[in-house]
Amino acid sequence: MNIRDLPEDTRLIQLAEESSELAQACIKLVRIMHHDSPASESVVRDNLLEEIADVSVCMTALQDIAPLARVGEIIAQKAQRWEDRINGKE
Ligand SMILES: [Mg+2]
Repeated sequence: MNIRDLPEDTRLIQLAEESSELAQACIKLVRIMHHDSPASESVVRDNLLEEIADVSVCMTALQDIAPLARVGEIIAQKAQRWEDRINGKE
């Protein structure tokens, strides 16, 4: 069985859970940056990579409803818009 064979709702819930874990990992790293956490920075950075990987796996499992090629196009557009904004072009 392939992960893409799982029911769509199961894959969406998994993406939501992993996205939440990714958000928490980001917050933990910012807390370390602000000297507001006794946690190990290397452990927290490793955890951040794990959560990014988890979200990426979920994205590959959702290719039937969110093709990675199309997602890639949107990423390029959004990255350009963000860059334009920080450079005062928007
Ligand atoms: Mg995870």
